Amino acid sequence: MLQRPGESQAWNPQRRGPNRRCHDNNDDDEEPPPFPNFFGPARYYCVETICAPCGVVIAWTKFARSESPTNILKFLEDVYQTEASRPDYICIDKGCKVLRTAVCNGSWDRIWKHTTRIIVDTYHYINHKVTDYLCRTYCNPSPGNGLAPNLVIIEYDNNGCPHAKRAFNTQVCKQLNAWLGGFESILKRMKPGNFNWFLHTMLFYHTKHVITQQKQKEKAKTKAEHQNRDNEDEDLGLDQEYNFSDQENSLSDLD
Ligand SMILES: [Zn+2]
Repeated sequence: MLQRPGESQAWNPQRRGPNRRCHDNNDDDEEPPPFPNFFGPARYYCVETICAPCGVVIAWTKFARSESPTNILKFLEDVYQTEASRPDYICIDKGCKVLRTAVCNGSWDRIWKHTTRIIVDTYHYINHKVTDYLCRTYCNPSPGNGLAPNLVIIEYDNNGCPHAKRAFNTQVCKQLNAWLGGFESILKRMKPGNFNWFLHTMLFYHTKHVITQQKQKEKAKTKAEHQNRDNEDEDLGLDQEYNFSDQENSLSDLD
């Protein structure tokens, strides 16, 4: 459907021009008619995604009105329905709020505490309150006290000096959102069906792209390993030759 400039579709908010409510005369003021369609860019709050640390998109949904901890917990429950499917760590920008809500509404005891820890991603963690005991104790994405050896790994630099390093990229969702933001102006003009289809397709292709990249990286890695091994073999060969000539020298010395 073509959309001319200044013309909005039936499902877009009718906000152009002055407010329809007359603010001088509130008594006789009628309530504005209910919107025929709830879905609309101004009213749909946000798209929420779940990503693996490698960038693969696991699930997405739309949150109406707000990205509340309750909504987030419900989304997680819907996606991870069985105990075996639940991840060890769930990293959320407002992880501490979600953990607090889960403890209060009982879903922590009922579901999550048996399998999963809820942490805050590194980007947002630095802005969370140092005085927030729950956040600092349970939601630290990279605790330096060795309590989470799966989150913090020890890596050695070229001089053999050890340093702690985050084991996972906890900002993949943020990076994905930045990419999705590029489609916002297109998505804003779509009907719910098109919106869902378009977003799902884009995320599907994005995930395929991520997996292809992973495979290419893996290939390059094995190739480099093979090359290294070949080089090592060559080095060994040279050494042997050297030893051999050494032996020859010593033999000739004996002669
Ligand atoms: Zn926090």
